[in-house]
Order: sequence, then C-alpha cells, then structure tokens
Amino acid sequence: MERTIRAELPLQPPPLPGRCPGCFAREEHCFCEAVSSLPSQNSTEHWVSLVIHARELNRTSNTGRWVHRCLPRSDVFVFGGKNVTPDWNRLLRSDHQPLLLFPGAARTLSHQDIEGAPLQLIVPDGNWRQAAKMTRWLATHWEIPKVSLPPGAISTFQIRKDRHHEGGLATIEAIAHAFRVLGEPDVSSHLWTLFRQLVQSTLAARGLQDRFAESTSPAIFG
Ligand SMILES: [Zn+2]
Repeated sequence: MERTIRAELPLQPPPLPGRCPGCFAREEHCFCEAVSSLPSQNSTEHWVSLVIHARELNRTSNTGRWVHRCLPRSDVFVFGGKNVTPDWNRLLRSDHQPLLLFPGAARTLSHQDIEGAPLQLIVPDGNWRQAAKMTRWLATHWEIPKVSLPPGAISTFQIRKDRHHEGGLATIEAIAHAFRVLGEPDVSSHLWTLFRQLVQSTLAARGLQDRFAESTSPAIFG
C-alpha cells in the first residue's frame, strides 16, 4: 500500500547551497518577490486539489506547488512519501463536485460542469507514469468522474518532456486552461503570469534568458 500524507508543508526539498529556499532557483535568479507581488486569487469558488508524487517535490521544474501557493482555495496531497501516515479522508470536499483531471478521459471538461455546486478539480501531478499510477490509485478508492481538457491545449513553454497532460502541458498550464474553460479568465491569466515567471527564471538559471522572447517553440528546453 502506498504510504501517503496530506501535506500542508513542506512542499520543498532540503535547502541547497546557492539556491533560494523559497523558489529553488539560484539566488541571483530568485523570483519569490515577483510571485509574492501577484495578488492571490480569491475570486473563484472552485477548489483545486493537487495530488503530487513525492518524487516530484524534489524537482525544480514542478509547477503544481505554485498553483497551491497562489490559489487560496487549493490543497496538496503528497503521494508515495515514506514514513508518513496516509490521510485521504479529507480529499473529497462535501461542498464541491469532484472531477479528476487526466488526459485521455472520455469526458471533456466543459462550462456545463459548473451547474450545481462548485467544482473540486483533483489534479495528479507527476510524470506520465506517476500520474497514471496515482490516477489508478484514486480510482480504486473513489468514483471520481474523469475529465480531460478540450483538444488543442498546447504548452506555450515546454519545460519538461514527460508531462502527463496533452500538448506537453505543465500542471500549472493545464489548470490555467481548465479555469479558462470554466469561464474564469482572471484566475487563468493569473496562473499564466506565474508560469511566465517560472519559465523566465528557469531560462535565466540555465543561461538561456535571451530565448524567452522567442520562445514560441514548444520544445524550448529540448
Ligand atoms: Zn526565491
């Protein structure tokens, strides 16, 4: 059985020399201030629950934790952590309709999904294999309807090749798309702005800042 925990904190690996403990970027490229200057998004009634694979937490390219940081109506469950007690009883929110966002689902997320109670988007966050495993695990414990994004959502900046969403989307991009589908462009734009900051910082840390402006290629990091 997977050993899991609902984690409020920590959502970051141990401190590394020369790295900012907040954003993990090299100190000279820290973008914490830029992120904290973004207003938190209270406008949406929808809830986002990120199920982040434990190994994903140690990756600087993980974007799910940033979603949690800027959406007050969100929480994080870490999947597969060691030496912790599983606590999934609080996953499903009684005042929301749960939907599991996963590519390939027969059903497509649509604006009509918000008829009734607000949504709880449950989003597995990891590479393809991890996300598939987490989805199977979730499906064995709860009957959560699966939805995928409408076709055509392509990553603006592909920061990793192994993303599990269509079009090479990072988790934060997928959620930004979802909020646009749900008719919440402000939340969507907010997440996009944050994602641009993440990409800009990552490029700078790799000495590739000049490529930011020309980053129309979906394979910016190869
Ligand atoms: Zn920082």
